[in-house]
Amino acid sequence: MKTISLGKVRDTIKDIVQKANFDLQDDVLALIKKMQAKEESPTGKEVLRQILENAKIAREEKIPLCQDTGLAVFFVELGEDVKLQKECGLFSLRHAINEGVRAGYAEGYLRNSVVGDPLQRNNTGDNTPAFIHWELVPGDTFKVTFIAKGAGAENMSAVRMFAPADGIESIEDFVVETVDKAGPNACPPVIVGVGLGGNFEYSTLLSKKALLRRPVGSHNRDKFYAQMERRLLERINNLGIGPQGLGGRCTALAVHVETFPCHIASMPAAVNIQCHSHRVIRIVI
Ligand code: SF4
Repeated sequence: MKTISLGKVRDTIKDIVQKANFDLQDDVLALIKKMQAKEESPTGKEVLRQILENAKIAREEKIPLCQDTGLAVFFVELGEDVKLQKECGLFSLRHAINEGVRAGYAEGYLRNSVVGDPLQRNNTGDNTPAFIHWELVPGDTFKVTFIAKGAGAENMSAVRMFAPADGIESIEDFVVETVDKAGPNACPPVIVGVGLGGNFEYSTLLSKKALLRRPVGSHNRDKFYAQMERRLLERINNLGIGPQGLGGRCTALAVHVETFPCHIASMPAAVNIQCHSHRVIRIVI
């Protein structure tokens, strides 16, 4: 049994929400550099140069990579052998995470991007509530993956319930069409998370997990899906949308496909688009 104090959780969350917003991860930087070398459009090349310069300034001066500092989304894997110790007035794990978000967004001068009601649109003033997905796992590990998810890319995401007989071509068309419709609004070059299988709600969650489970640009371990990722990336980069939608080859940095079993009569497919400002951190507490 491992004991983790809620105060430690809060302080860790406070730090990572800032770090994610200031430091573009190395896997994304490496892919942007690679794409910059290959980009055929001079404008596209220049946009990629500016994205890299923006990332350098953000890291050095500890300022946000983008004005949209995102919804605070967490995937928490909590070991069954972890004991949480209440302290500092923190009464639950959810409370500790929200307090970390509140403190981190205030300390880092990160924009508060949450409204408390979807129609009445009142800003909650501290970027809470956090959006937390829980998973109970064996052992005594406590893993947290944080993503600051901006609205521009999230708004362009989509889900469709296919029939099994529709086939793989229809699904690939849907993924490509979704990126095409997003155009410049998702701030390309994007990362495309594809969730196949599960059910209506699970496929969308899977499509977001697809953005987070592995280093950006790596491929699914199943060759069948690795080939699908390569085909989709090629088709998307032939759309001509280019960096920030100003034309060019570099529309997507990567396509990640994740799958799950599903009903014999269903074939759910979800696409979660992420912008080049891929602010993600994975930690073990
Ligand atoms: S989509 Fe991404 S890069 Fe574009 S404004 Fe939103 S957070 Fe910023």
